[in-house]
Amino acid sequence: MNAAAPAKLKVATTSLAGCFGCHMSLLDIDERLFELVEKVEFDRSPLTDIKEVGNCDVGIIEGGLCNAENVEVLRDFRRRCKVLVAMGACAINGGCPRSETT
Ligand code: SF4
Repeated sequence: MNAAAPAKLKVATTSLAGCFGCHMSLLDIDERLFELVEKVEFDRSPLTDIKEVGNCDVGIIEGGLCNAENVEVLRDFRRRCKVLVAMGACAINGGCPRSETT
């Protein structure tokens, strides 16, 4: 008797004020993407044409917060995703888009 396949993790990604370089690094795993999609179902991400984030297990955030739209998207991800992962310097520390005001 075959055991049921484990449910795939549902993952969404977004780029806020980022350059998409973090997403490109993810895509750089090349053929290992095939192994990944056996374990992961992508929701909103550059790999799909889904415009609205659904209820997800993991939300991966690239980029910092620069404007009201970034804040709205981040809050939507926070509501919809059980776990948020900040990917890259921009998401973690503000990165290049971060501006210092004096
Ligand atoms: S950390 Fe920021 S600048 Fe670096 S690749 Fe990611 S989005 Fe681009």
